[in-house]
Amino acid sequence: MERALTPLMARWAEEALGAAPPEEPEATCHSCVMCTPEPGPRFLPDVKCCMYLPALKNFQVGLALRTEEGRRTTLPRLADPRNVTPLGLTRGDAQVGPLRRALAEGRFGQAPALVCPHFDAVEGGRCTIWAARDAVCATWFCRVSRGARGRGAWHELHNLLTELEELVARVVAPRLGEAPVAEPSWGPWAGRAEAYYGRCAELAEAFAWDELRRLGGFAVRFRQRNAREAQRAREVFEPIVWDVPGRWALGAARTERGEDGLVYAFGDGPYQPVLLTEAQWADVQAGGGPALSDALARRLVDHHVWVAP
Ligand code: SF4
Ligand code: SF4
Repeated sequence: MERALTPLMARWAEEALGAAPPEEPEATCHSCVMCTPEPGPRFLPDVKCCMYLPALKNFQVGLALRTEEGRRTTLPRLADPRNVTPLGLTRGDAQVGPLRRALAEGRFGQAPALVCPHFDAVEGGRCTIWAARDAVCATWFCRVSRGARGRGAWHELHNLLTELEELVARVVAPRLGEAPVAEPSWGPWAGRAEAYYGRCAELAEAFAWDELRRLGGFAVRFRQRNAREAQRAREVFEPIVWDVPGRWALGAARTERGEDGLVYAFGDGPYQPVLLTEAQWADVQAGGGPALSDALARRLVDHHVWVAP
């Protein structure tokens, strides 16, 4: 399985958390689980969850330009000078509006016209800038282990990585002889955006964690603490007492029947059902019963199918 985080982010995350964040085996990106004929919302194979345009930071552009396929999808973005800045590539209003509308209309994963320019639909659909993705792409999963706890951990890691991305983009620019970041200009790199972004990538890779932490000050320390706490919370497996009547009750879960005869119970989001046999579903509705196991009870709680009354 390919790691979710880019190599640079993985290094930052390991330093910040004290360990690598876990993989998410239920999000099977190369054979996208959201493109299978299951109940619930479905994504198109030529879109998947890549209906998003990353505003790549300067060093991420440099990383993207290191591979042939990355160059193929990134250089066209550099051709529009309105979106090319010393801090990185912006999205541009023309791209953002339609994306927001589609998301508001519930068409996430279903609008091929709005697919990310870095997405390659061949071979099952893949990202051409995998090692240069931004924090949004690297920390978003349709399905996570531990349900809300897992989402909370990724959310906090996303916040930390976003803080670090912005910090690094800001600090590498002055090191290249830029004007103050409040008024960025290309200076000696005018007309050499590609070389400039490449140098940004080299500088970004050279940062030691301690230096980043010092440069980031309170904001980075605050995000790091939140990310660590959320990660710890995700790893806590307190005993779930579920065979006491009235301990757990059915929450606001939505259910659908699959063609496989199973009940798909969606508790904490539209993309990750808990799969149950009819006997298990009957026990879930009753607040307990012989068809349930400890592991399934935990999954019901983690994914908010069961809630404390
Ligand atoms: S995270 Fe995206 S690509 Fe991966 S399985 Fe989920 S929808 Fe598919
Ligand atoms: S950058 Fe890659 S992972 Fe992110 S939306 Fe585009 S194709 Fe998908």
